[in-house]
Amino acid sequence: MNNSLKLGLVGIGKIARDQHLPAIAANPRFALTACASRNAEVNGVRNYTDIERLLAVEPELDAISLTATPQVRFEQARAALAAGKHVMLEKPPTANLGEIEVLRTMARDANRTLFATWHSRHAPAVEPAREWLATQRIESVAVRWKEDVRRWHPGQDWIWQPGGLGVFDPGINALSIVTRILPREILLQDATLWVPADAQTPIAAELAFIDEAGVPVRAEFDWRHGPVEQWEIDVVTGAGLLQISGGGKRLSIAGEAVELAAEREYPSLYERFDWLIAHGAEDVDVRPLRHVADAFLLGARHEVEAFGL
Ligand code: NAP
Repeated sequence: MNNSLKLGLVGIGKIARDQHLPAIAANPRFALTACASRNAEVNGVRNYTDIERLLAVEPELDAISLTATPQVRFEQARAALAAGKHVMLEKPPTANLGEIEVLRTMARDANRTLFATWHSRHAPAVEPAREWLATQRIESVAVRWKEDVRRWHPGQDWIWQPGGLGVFDPGINALSIVTRILPREILLQDATLWVPADAQTPIAAELAFIDEAGVPVRAEFDWRHGPVEQWEIDVVTGAGLLQISGGGKRLSIAGEAVELAAEREYPSLYERFDWLIAHGAEDVDVRPLRHVADAFLLGARHEVEAFGL
């Protein structure tokens, strides 16, 4: 443990407890030293109510992992980079595209690692799918990312506020996989957003992209779906259908299930953060966020029934 990285975790909510704390505890390269959250504490470490106090009192921290809501990520990341820390960002990395560029420049200038995570890219189906698709003739892509918002986001008002992304909060996970597995860039051509009368962000969206070779890539995101969630990506190729399901836990190619490793998205994220720090590297791919921004720029909006906020 002597040469482990002293880590601070900021924003102790659902994802911090469900995934980050167990992944950090299981990784000997990180020593969770302190946490900051306005309303929560973690047993066994020093706790502060905000990141400024944490950074002031814990100068020996090497790295900070940010797991609060996207609307506050930029200010927290800026404070951590200004204090000389390596920084890992939950997805989406920031609430807009300008913020992440400022953070990237700050990190480079300070010679610190900035890691904008996309946890779904670490799902077991993703790399085998990418490797197989690299040699195929792709004909079309269809994404269905549908779930019950009341089950998956209970009480999370921030998702309905500006910067909260609405249905793009899970939808951006699908886009993070699509931008990893397809061999060419995709461009948004058309989008439709359905926005509840009492919300600022969509509850459903349909996106129509083409790739650089003109191949259609369609995506349907819907939070009015249930009870069984649908997190699927179909890629029709000259050699048959590649299907990712279970959000990346399962893969089939031409009707045959592909044997995959067990799901370990967050342990894999912390291994990558350690690797990036050790190699003086960054990992900041803004493309999933850019596609969401394009959907907000191009999308036709339709008001739908109030959600009941
Ligand atoms: P959450 O539980 O609603 O929020 C996380 C924590 O952020 C809250 O507990 C709160 O802690 C802090 N926070 C909220 N507003 C804040 C503010 N104005 N200033 C400072 N801190 C604030 O949300 P979550 O589900 O963990 O999601 C957090 C991030 O993880 C999101 O970007 C989400 O996309 C991502 N994520 C979530 C999941 C999931 O399954 N939930 C999965 C993957 C990624 P305090 O009140 O104690 O400060």
